[in-house]
Amino acid sequence: MTDLLIRNIRPMAGTATDMLIRDGRIAAVGPNLVADGVTVEDGNGAIAIPALVDAHTHLDKTTWGMGWYAGRKGGDLQDLIDNERNERIPLGLDVHRQSMRHALQLIANGTGHIRSHVDVDHDHKLTLLEGKLRTREALQGAVDIQIVAFPQSGLMIRPGVYDLLDEALAMGADVVGGLDPSSMDRDPKASLDAIFRLAEKHGKPIDIHLHEYGELGAFTLEEIITRTRAHGMQGKVGVSHCFCLGMPDPHRVDPLMEQVAREDIRIFTTGHPSAEVPSLQDMRALGIKVGMGCDGIRDTWGPWGQPDMLHRARIVGMKNRMRRDDELELLLDTASRGGADAMGVEALGLVVGALADLTLVAGETLAHAAVEESTRPLVVKGGRVVARNGALTLPGITMP
Ligand SMILES: [Zn+2]
Repeated sequence: MTDLLIRNIRPMAGTATDMLIRDGRIAAVGPNLVADGVTVEDGNGAIAIPALVDAHTHLDKTTWGMGWYAGRKGGDLQDLIDNERNERIPLGLDVHRQSMRHALQLIANGTGHIRSHVDVDHDHKLTLLEGKLRTREALQGAVDIQIVAFPQSGLMIRPGVYDLLDEALAMGADVVGGLDPSSMDRDPKASLDAIFRLAEKHGKPIDIHLHEYGELGAFTLEEIITRTRAHGMQGKVGVSHCFCLGMPDPHRVDPLMEQVAREDIRIFTTGHPSAEVPSLQDMRALGIKVGMGCDGIRDTWGPWGQPDMLHRARIVGMKNRMRRDDELELLLDTASRGGADAMGVEALGLVVGALADLTLVAGETLAHAAVEESTRPLVVKGGRVVARNGALTLPGITMP
């Protein structure tokens, strides 16, 4: 069922060739392959790359496909959090329906792996997680979804949320989330100790939203680094945004980045337009594993974004002042293979034995493909064609 022969593709923009997929894995790459009784697709000479990877998004937040939401407000982070918590129910934001819409658009645009945070708070308890677990199950085989149990409204400032996170992890959330241990929870030691305790109890990795700027963020990051070392959790801790590594002070930032690299802490960036972000080029040069994500898409927080990792790659590329071809190739790699690596999923690549998770993209070269605005000609997940020219080909699944 997952056997497929794709003719005339250019893996990583190389020479045109064929690719044979058997049992969901790449079985052969070479010219004029022969395989009887296997479905054949014509790649028409397009570039093939590993599946795109959205390593930081919020499938439970989007208003995509609903009426235009006109209630967005300005204000600080707390105002945005409160507005969303208050608006979800009056808006009729059904998490299963909305996360299906969001994830299906990502699939149609070539995404094979998603890490999505889900809000866990007093008002909604575990209902948002339940909606997203249904989506993960419905889309099994079409996309792999990692779920982060995320205390969006705070952890230490809201007694009881710790127990809800504990329950969420027992129910099937894959990753322990956190949010601004200093500026939101006002108690970084207690907040981080709680997060690491949950991770140890459930044997699961960590992904902490760290919006804290400047010296405060650097202090919190040091506390995360210290605990990562003390708990032997190298390779299991991620920090999302990490704006403090974007501050213009190399004397402070460079040693911090070196420690992040040494403890194999993963960084997830979204190229946030409203903040200074850590340099993608500098992080990758140090060997830090970096994932990229669309973050929230057209939600109560903001009207921007598209459920398309190449759209996000362009934002991240512009934010990081990327111009040269080698930088654009690094950008594309971070949006696909690199993101999977940062998320700890099986290595993606277009080599024999690798998972047959790949997408075709338009362009002459990889650098060109990173900037070209175009639909994906063919999307393959586990050897199965899941989308063609931007339209889903998933039997029994329609866009809600
Ligand atoms: Zn986020």
